[in-house]
Amino acid sequence: MDSTKMQHYKKVLLSFQSRINRLLTKEQNNLREFNPLTESLDEGDFSQATIDREMELLSRDALSQISKLIEISLKKIESGSYGICERCHKEIPEGRLKALPYSPYCVSCQSIIEKKYEK
Ligand SMILES: [Zn+2]
Repeated sequence: MDSTKMQHYKKVLLSFQSRINRLLTKEQNNLREFNPLTESLDEGDFSQATIDREMELLSRDALSQISKLIEISLKKIESGSYGICERCHKEIPEGRLKALPYSPYCVSCQSIIEKKYEK
């Protein structure tokens, strides 16, 4: 991955982190439930809004876990190893990084790992 792209993901990660920090400092009972049947979204910022909503639904544990993953990703950007799957050491496809910029694994490794945890 070239350094321009890394800088882009760094910005994305930092904005994710500030959102998470904001959610973590909110009172737990202020986290509201998103009801897709009664709330509509502008199509334009659908994906960003979706990410925000999804984050609002996460538990504090999940949020702090993501926060840790973001910190690790930011360190990887500094060391130049960002975007490499921790399990198979191949490049993580950009589509996945766009959806989950803090993901340490590619899709196939992630599903292998999740299957392992299911049992
Ligand atoms: Zn992998």
